Amino acid sequence: MELTKEWDKEYIANTYNRFPVCITKGKGSILTDDEGKDYIDLGSGIAVNTFGACDDNWITAVTNQLNSLVHTSNLYYTEPCAQLAKILCEKTGMKKVFFSNSGAEANECAIKVARKYANKTLGEDYYNIITLKASFHGRTITTLSATGQDVFHTQFKPLTEGFLYANPNDIEDMEQLLKSNKCAGIMLEVVQGEGGVNALDFDYLKQVEKLAEKYKVVLIVDEVQCGNGRTGKLYGYMHSGINPDIVTTAKGLGGGLPIGATMLGEKVKDVYVAGDHGSTFGGNPVCCAGAINVINRLDDELLDDVLEKSKMIYDELEHSSGVISITGLGLMLGIETKRNADEIVKECIENGVLVLKAKNKIRLLPALNIPKEELLKALKVLKIACEK
Ligand SMILES: *Cc1c(COP(=O)(O)O)cnc(C)c1O
Repeated sequence: MELTKEWDKEYIANTYNRFPVCITKGKGSILTDDEGKDYIDLGSGIAVNTFGACDDNWITAVTNQLNSLVHTSNLYYTEPCAQLAKILCEKTGMKKVFFSNSGAEANECAIKVARKYANKTLGEDYYNIITLKASFHGRTITTLSATGQDVFHTQFKPLTEGFLYANPNDIEDMEQLLKSNKCAGIMLEVVQGEGGVNALDFDYLKQVEKLAEKYKVVLIVDEVQCGNGRTGKLYGYMHSGINPDIVTTAKGLGGGLPIGATMLGEKVKDVYVAGDHGSTFGGNPVCCAGAINVINRLDDELLDDVLEKSKMIYDELEHSSGVISITGLGLMLGIETKRNADEIVKECIENGVLVLKAKNKIRLLPALNIPKEELLKALKVLKIACEK
């Protein structure tokens, strides 16, 4: 750890405030550091390791692909990429998919589609995209611009123009912006992750869908964090019954490997023509093989189990004297605590539990298959830390 820490501090750009833990291996929801200490992981690599660390079934799927083809390029057909797109479309009703390598890229692709669509159907100056305050859509200059939080904007201006920010769950504010600006689309997270784990009202989502129709703009849902079973549905928007035009996802889709997907609905499925967009690594066969394994395992039984574990977390923490409120859906939960969240995170680490933060809340994003005993054990540690 000391040497790793030294090299890291010297040679890695200063963008991360790491905790003093060096993880060397993991199995399921147990991670082990370089001193042999075990931790119960309630963060799953920020909602990435859908089935925890080194899941056997997933490893088999990925290594089979590693042994036949790792990479070619998008100049040729490869089976895992086509198969994954087919599965995603069949399970969501979306029509076509563009693959990339991250959430930010999945959103970039969606923004380009919305702008091209509006350019053709409404006119050249219809390029504004409305996002929500407290949203998070990525770190590239354009997705940063889409992110409705000033803290991320300062010092990086000029950002990409054409983004407007509406108050979440305020349909009048949304309509006002649509009415007074020339818009191409609306983009939102159905559960805002980085912004504090806030689920949007289902009713609000339905009204946003109506407004998107009325103003003929593209409705994009960013399911990078809340997608892929995380909330107890395959995608978070499915709780509200809306039909977005574009669904973006990444994080948990690959089960640990980098992949982004931009799913295009009927309205926009043919907006792109050859040459409009591309990616060198996008649709990489190994990442797609990992994602196929993940998506195929997110069946009703597993999703019910996610909801059951969500309830366990509520039952365990809701009435704790240290807990003010719990927000979010499924296994994507934010816990507002009386005690400072940084202190709680630190104490949990000392006691062998890894939790995340979102704004001033504790954020829980455990692997979807975390065993109930491990979850309970970790919750007891968290609860004690909250009550101090
Ligand atoms: C993490 C996240 C992103 C960015 O994903 P990267 O893979 O880090 O580029 C975008 N949107 C949401 C909702 C996220 O949680």
